Amino acid sequence: MKLIEVKDVKKYFPVQKGFIESLITKESEYVRAVDGVSFDIKKGEVLGLAGESGSGKTTTGRLCVRLIAPTEGQILFDGNDIAKLRGKELRLIRRRIQFTFQDPTSSLNPRRKIGEAIGDALLLQNIGTPDERKERVEAVLDRVGLSPASSFMDRLPHQLSGGQKQRVVFGRAIVLNPEFVVTDEPVAMVDVSIKAQILELMMDLKKEYGLTYLFISHDLATSRYVCDRIGVMYLGKIVEMADKDSIYEDPLHPYAVGLMSAIPVPDPKAKKAKAIPRGEIPSPINPPSGCRFHPRCPKAFERCPNEEPELRDVGNGRQVACHLYD
Ligand code: SF4
Repeated sequence: MKLIEVKDVKKYFPVQKGFIESLITKESEYVRAVDGVSFDIKKGEVLGLAGESGSGKTTTGRLCVRLIAPTEGQILFDGNDIAKLRGKELRLIRRRIQFTFQDPTSSLNPRRKIGEAIGDALLLQNIGTPDERKERVEAVLDRVGLSPASSFMDRLPHQLSGGQKQRVVFGRAIVLNPEFVVTDEPVAMVDVSIKAQILELMMDLKKEYGLTYLFISHDLATSRYVCDRIGVMYLGKIVEMADKDSIYEDPLHPYAVGLMSAIPVPDPKAKKAKAIPRGEIPSPINPPSGCRFHPRCPKAFERCPNEEPELRDVGNGRQVACHLYD
């Protein structure tokens, strides 16, 4: 059963111009952060979004929980178009969908105690009496491994380690018993020694709460550990979508091939053929014509700068946007 359906979604941000620039040209420019993305996520599934910075994965995640509204397209959560919801309906859907930010330090108010940071969501949603909310927050703190809860309730964020702050962030995400969580680079800011514990916590919460995740990460080795399927994004578009084993063992799109070959391997003798894309990701204000990857693609041919490839099914549930697979 599909819990999330993203249908041809675009998100363009207007470029702010300086005074002189606005006198020279009247034309508006836009950063095409997400430019026609479609996918779905089944209930209980973990879908990963991978790609370099600037690929549009974080913006896609924010769109999926209605932190920002799409410029075009639809995002259906359990059949409801979340961009159209207002008032009470929107408040109720916010109980069911949550987002965890990349940097736990900046996502926690330095002046709010941990108990308040987690309990605020219950308060905003008008759930329970003060005693019931306190009880619920303590249960959540215990569940995310911050025990005894009573010793964490009154602490401020600066009194916690990076790993503990990330646990608070997950506590805040689950306190409303959500169904869908978008988690943006959840282990990017924690020590390597803590990384495995946070991922384990994430997967335990998934089992216990029946969660569905959209897992955003540039770290492909981590995505392989937690995801069922992976979507590779490049300049605001999905270029390949497949189950994790297919995409890691046999990536098809030249960009996905490059990303996978950059994953470090423990055995130095087992070197993979390097196919890391040349140069930098181009500007999303004026993306290259045709296939956006063509200036960096080692396999580009005549057709590539002239015609944009569509994301097509290539069998076994895989989709690729590349003329080599037409
Ligand atoms: Fe490379 Fe052409 Fe495929 Fe784009 S369409 S990835 S440029 S081969």
